[in-house]
Amino acid sequence: MYQAYKRQFEDELKEIRESGMWKEVGVLEGKQGAEILIKNDKNDENDKSDKNKGTKLLNFCANNYLGLASSDELAQAAIEGVKKYGFGEASVRFIVGTSMIHKDLEKEISRFFGTEDAITYTSCFDANTGLFETILKEGDAIFSDELNHASIIDGVRLCKAERFRYKNSDMADLEAKLKEFRDRVGTGLDPSVNERGSKPSPTRESRLLIATDGVFSMDGITAKISQICDLAEKYGAMVMVDDSHGSGVLGEHGRGAVEGLMDRVDILTSTFGKALGGAGGGFTAGRKEIIQVLHQRSRTTLFSNSLPPMIASAALHVLQNFDSKFISLRKQLAENTSYFRSAMEKLGFALGGDGRHPITPVMLGEEKLATEMAAKLFTHGIYVRGFTYPVVPKGKARIRVQISAAHTKEQMDKAAEAFGKVGKEMGITEKRE
Ligand SMILES: *Cc1c(COP(=O)(O)O)cnc(C)c1O
Repeated sequence: MYQAYKRQFEDELKEIRESGMWKEVGVLEGKQGAEILIKNDKNDENDKSDKNKGTKLLNFCANNYLGLASSDELAQAAIEGVKKYGFGEASVRFIVGTSMIHKDLEKEISRFFGTEDAITYTSCFDANTGLFETILKEGDAIFSDELNHASIIDGVRLCKAERFRYKNSDMADLEAKLKEFRDRVGTGLDPSVNERGSKPSPTRESRLLIATDGVFSMDGITAKISQICDLAEKYGAMVMVDDSHGSGVLGEHGRGAVEGLMDRVDILTSTFGKALGGAGGGFTAGRKEIIQVLHQRSRTTLFSNSLPPMIASAALHVLQNFDSKFISLRKQLAENTSYFRSAMEKLGFALGGDGRHPITPVMLGEEKLATEMAAKLFTHGIYVRGFTYPVVPKGKARIRVQISAAHTKEQMDKAAEAFGKVGKEMGITEKRE
């Protein structure tokens, strides 16, 4: 029977290739770090053989913001976790899959971010897909930024609430949508609204939730969280922020885009797969009643194994030692980010981002430029990725450089130099010396 389907899949794969959207996967031969060995990457146009092994490259496209992904100290913390709690729980949490390490980590997440409670998941993707349908029903409403991460989009798809997609960080658009829903349905929280003739949801009071990424990952721009909270108060909505790219990176204390705002943000989701470690793991933190409901009803915790203890152990180590030790990496990261940005600006490149986040988009415009430039940089020993439509809007293709605390000045100089050379070659930057 499969023969008929085989043709279909082959056609689909062909289509992906021909549309230029095929993703060539670079295989690491060693640890993730500022310097990596990539095996047989087809980005190297000159090498058609399978023997293009172990190309040494400077890595500028990982989320390894604090450089902890290859840290021996974290590996050691993970080993301690394995020794103490074993390889895994072989269970979902509510049956027999919760260890002390999960409890300790959840308490520590709450302390670190200043929330009432927290629940861990095996990833932030799971945290997000397990969130919305658990707390929102038919008759409720979710207001989601158009640039939100795929895991928020998928999570929202699973829930029966009415969906509103507002323009990226456009507060007027968000307000218009909140107002439209409130005037039509009411929030159940504001009696004066109901007096004006709107009807509350028939089943129960309607819940409204605004969901946003803390940092929009293609642009390196922070969400207007404070303004979102103002609108939430005005219209009786809750606020959810996914701060996966912000946690450990933004804010004077590394609490992320939400730093100083956690008394107004009701739900925070984030990952241990980026700055706060690199291996994986995620969590939802916030109001204690919401976290309790997630423990009771969230499908990605009820029907999926608990976070492996080794990851929980390493994550706990990062949070416990963040203020005394890892905070210096955050400072280094901020310094590196401005160092690289100013080098690139001097070369005449147009950069996106707000300069605070280590995501540094080099704006190129045409789709072909981004792909071609990334391939050329590869031959200069610089590993970066071109991002093109549909990941970013048409005509806004870019190379997304991601700076890490692990990059040395020399490595950033080398990258900027390569960008300069290739940029000139391709006529992207003005010729200056
Ligand atoms: C990376 C990312 C995720 C996914 O995190 P995982 O823990 O790897 O599943 C979710 N949301 C946002 C905004 C992210 O940037």
